Amino acid sequence: MDGLPAVPDGSSTEAVLDFDAIVLGAGVTGLYQLYKLRELGLKVRVFETGTAVGGTWYWNRYPGARFDSESWTYGYSFSKELLEEWDWEEHFAGQPETERYLNYVADKFGLRRDIQFKSRVTAAHYQEDTRSWDVVLEDGRCYTTRFLITAVGVLSAATMPAIPGVETFQGQSCHTHYWPKEPVRFEGKRVAVIGTGATGIQTITEVAKTAGHLTVFQRTPQWSAPLHNAKIGAEEMRGIRANYPEIYATDPRAALEVTPKERDAFWEKLYAEPGFGIWMGNFKDILVDRQANALISDFIARKIRERVKDPVVAEKLIPKNHGFGTRRVPLESGYFEVYNQPNVELVDINETPIERITPVGIKTSDHEYEFDIIIYATGFDAITGAFDRIDIRGVGGVSLKDKWKDGPQTFLGILIDGFPNMLMVMGPHAGLGNFPRAVEYTADWVTGLIRFACDRGLTRIEATAAGAVAWTDHVIASSEGLLFTEVDSWMTGINRNVEGKQVRRIMRYSGGHPAFRKRCDAVAADGYRELVLA
Ligand SMILES: Cc1cc2nc3c(=O)[nH]c(=O)nc-3n(C[C@H](O)[C@H](O)[C@H](O)COP(=O)(O)OP(=O)(O)OC[C@H]3O[C@@H](n4cnc5c(N)ncnc54)[C@H](O)[C@@H]3O)c2cc1C
Repeated sequence: MDGLPAVPDGSSTEAVLDFDAIVLGAGVTGLYQLYKLRELGLKVRVFETGTAVGGTWYWNRYPGARFDSESWTYGYSFSKELLEEWDWEEHFAGQPETERYLNYVADKFGLRRDIQFKSRVTAAHYQEDTRSWDVVLEDGRCYTTRFLITAVGVLSAATMPAIPGVETFQGQSCHTHYWPKEPVRFEGKRVAVIGTGATGIQTITEVAKTAGHLTVFQRTPQWSAPLHNAKIGAEEMRGIRANYPEIYATDPRAALEVTPKERDAFWEKLYAEPGFGIWMGNFKDILVDRQANALISDFIARKIRERVKDPVVAEKLIPKNHGFGTRRVPLESGYFEVYNQPNVELVDINETPIERITPVGIKTSDHEYEFDIIIYATGFDAITGAFDRIDIRGVGGVSLKDKWKDGPQTFLGILIDGFPNMLMVMGPHAGLGNFPRAVEYTADWVTGLIRFACDRGLTRIEATAAGAVAWTDHVIASSEGLLFTEVDSWMTGINRNVEGKQVRRIMRYSGGHPAFRKRCDAVAADGYRELVLA
């Protein structure tokens, strides 16, 4: 394609823009989107806050940071050569290995030359007269682009707890997402971890190995299940390669259809196997039927009681306010046994709330603790958080944050009415599945739409309001009956540390990736007539 597509009526939209497309974020999603847009011959720039590629796997360097999906399901599939070349070292790669992989991809495909690091985007405003976006960086620089593509991540807007005094602590404070690049040493140190979600569980397990004393502040315990990680030998890697791609299949039986003995035998097997099988490959009713869910929850609770010696501590570690699998199941490697160690203490902050962070430590309602290091494993303003942190304004200056204040409204999780030429890859309401597979599909679809526009000299792409309402209604309907919708979690848009995130919303599409693909394919096959193109 030569330059930018001209507007047929010769209007002022022929203005020379800095870029055909700007992509926000250089994680798994942004890297692939860049690769695809280059195939169209477009002038593309990626803006990334960090100093290097990797997104999640660049930022989260905390001790124990690791996949809990199989490494070999996580590689991109678009390049056979890449699949042939890359050997995963572990079934569940640690952060350094995944970061290495994404750097390898960036180098192999020469992606870095179009990525501008240390470039946080603070604002993006649509200009109707030029049918383009003004994109503003934190340092004030401003760029223009026809298409704005977000690849900002679902878990990338880290949140600190809303506890007074955080800034007064005189020791070392680390949020797991913003972990320092140089190693943090815990030997002989008094360490606190606040938060026991997936990240907290990984951090606690690792820090407990060397800390002088570790105090864990827990609000919500999790139904964590064993990861069973292992190294991958050369022979095994050959076998895996021969079987790309491997997926979990749900057991077609219902938990309530089989005898208790059969049920327990199946669950023992799943509990002893690596990965998410116990969550995603379990009986088909455990995530929809309250009774079946109570049975699997009892099974996991039994396991926790077996593994934790002190029965009082064990009870504290067993979730009481949600059933197994209704929040994302964190996978662990010896997490529960940590609480059998003499150097580890569990504080239930429901019983003794944290009142404030002090210059020397943490004050709860009944004790003043002193620490050398406080680790905040307090997670993310998930899914829409990274969008909310950018002043995104569409037609007529309407703010996206305002538009989504009662929950996201999207068409296919990709387009938003009133925000022409803005396309989201892995935004809210998008099709979910194996992450890189889902990214590849959506980025291909976005690229196909841009190709379609460029080929026809179209410079304005927008979802209709009716299309967005219909998709949003469908997303909501597809989650009906799923037990997770009745539970507060980042998957239902709850974050007690973020204003406006106290009401449960349907943030993600639960209809499955095949249904999502079918719908998106149909829109493309129909010549995108469901969109307004000009
Ligand atoms: C600790 C942790 C463990 C995980 N484990 C798994 C797992 O085992 N399996 C799995 O499938 N998924 C896992 N995930 C989910 C993971 O986020 C995705 O798999 C994937 O890495 C997301 O890629 P992404 O490129 O969409 O987003 P990210 O990797 O989050 O990248 C987004 C990038 O956008 C940048 N960005 C955001 N806003 C701006 C802005 N305004 N200006 C400029 N740049 C911006 C960020 O700096 C970031 O680098 C995990 C997530 C976390 C946090």
